[in-house]
Amino acid sequence: MPVFVVQLHDARRLHYDVRLEVDGVLKSWAVPRGPSLDPAVKRLAVPTDDHAMDYANYEGVHAGARYGSGAVIVWDAGDYTNQTRDKARKLVEPADAIERGHFRFALQGVKLTGSWAFTRTGRDGDWLLVKVRDEAAEPGLDLTTAEPRSILSGLTIEEMAESGHSGDQSQP
Ligand code: MN
Repeated sequence: MPVFVVQLHDARRLHYDVRLEVDGVLKSWAVPRGPSLDPAVKRLAVPTDDHAMDYANYEGVHAGARYGSGAVIVWDAGDYTNQTRDKARKLVEPADAIERGHFRFALQGVKLTGSWAFTRTGRDGDWLLVKVRDEAAEPGLDLTTAEPRSILSGLTIEEMAESGHSGDQSQP
């Protein structure tokens, strides 16, 4: 199954990078406020550059500029299942779904589960990340504050920044 990762990145502004494996690369969106478990909440998601697959396991403090400087932790990761369907209920491949501006998927992560959707708004090319209504929805829980730590190292983003650990990425 294809993988996904959500990295918390302390760049000029703290943001979450949500990345899903599509055709051998990590398609990526920067989500400033992170995912919300409340289906009524739409989170701004700005498309960013595709990242290489091996970046999915990266956490540490970037010294270089290729992927932006600052501390990164792996906030969540796991597999996903594409759930995008067209009007005829036919499954739409992820690359086509992104091209068309609506990409629905189910996450099997440590923190995030259930169905989610990225939808392009048309304004400024921005997208929205929204929790689909299902049994994994939980409007009263803010996971970003309830579970702030890395699923790999157990560090918070502040602890990672203080560690100065450069991570295993050979070409940041
Ligand atoms: Mn970033």
